Amino acid sequence: MAKRTKYLKPEDRRILTADVLASKRISPNFVRVTIGGNELADYTPMGFDQWFRLFMPGRNGLRLPTAASNLWYAQYLMMGKDHRPLVRNYTVREHRAAGAGTFGTTAEIDIDFAMHGDHTPACGWASACEPGSTVGLLDEGITYQPPEHTTWSLLAGDESALPAIAGILKSAPRDLQGAVYVEIAHADDTQDLNEPEGVHVDWLVRSDPDTEVGTLVTEAVRAANLPGDATYGWVAGEQKLASGLRRHLVNDRGVPKADVTFTGYWRIGKAQG
Ligand SMILES: Cc1cc2nc3c(=O)[nH]c(=O)nc-3n(C[C@H](O)[C@H](O)[C@H](O)COP(=O)(O)OP(=O)(O)OC[C@H]3O[C@@H](n4cnc5c(N)ncnc54)[C@H](O)[C@@H]3O)c2cc1C
Repeated sequence: MAKRTKYLKPEDRRILTADVLASKRISPNFVRVTIGGNELADYTPMGFDQWFRLFMPGRNGLRLPTAASNLWYAQYLMMGKDHRPLVRNYTVREHRAAGAGTFGTTAEIDIDFAMHGDHTPACGWASACEPGSTVGLLDEGITYQPPEHTTWSLLAGDESALPAIAGILKSAPRDLQGAVYVEIAHADDTQDLNEPEGVHVDWLVRSDPDTEVGTLVTEAVRAANLPGDATYGWVAGEQKLASGLRRHLVNDRGVPKADVTFTGYWRIGKAQG
């Protein structure tokens, strides 16, 4: 994963368990899994692009590390391949507090999986999981951190970053000014982003399956009119997309390095974990 410039971590955290409440294909390339349960009462929603490590059942069911700090990873490695959970990173698409849920009385979290086939470990799990299946969740906080001197936000990413972009636009002040470039695989994968009036959203549909992910969003940002100064850049998605756009913003557009947050969410040809 690409280096992250800065981010806001939750103060206290431990691995929480939750149960699958529903799994539904919401558009050609997105499956929404809703989780809930009593332990989500201990989850503190921060909004924006809040992400978490999702622990799904491994080869022999779900065994979770118990360490709350970064030591969870050492524990995970010690478990051995047959007993480890499957761990991937996901974003809170929507959090509903207890009592405001769609499926029950506890808090609920929607997770939107960008499907790249049905057979990778995480996509396979998302498309086949049944209500009642248990998962673990470790809160990792938010990366969207516009410095105070910036007045205009550029958000750019591929479909894996759509949940984060949706979360940022939902949490952003209503007077936010900026532009969003989001690349998706199908025109029907667009979502209602409820963007502030001063934010222009450009959906870039990768209709040719031979086009490499990230090509369209990279071209669009390169061609975009950005205000001269005070731009904050947030880019996420495939590794080359994220680091390439960061380089473009810094080297060609003169955006200070500290005013760009970039995160490689995944890498072409390389499985996580
Ligand atoms: C902070 C953060 C937040 C994230 N939030 C989300 C989110 O909300 N929704 C979401 O869908 N993803 C999100 N991701 C990306 C997700 O973690 C990865 O895509 C993950 O690798 C998927 O796991 P997998 O088991 O499907 O594939 P893996 O086993 O990791 O990889 C298998 C193969 O699939 C390819 N691959 C992996 N991801 C993609 C992709 N998105 N598109 C095309 N090919 C891919 C790999 O190159 C590899 O060849 C996030 C990542 C980070 C770091």
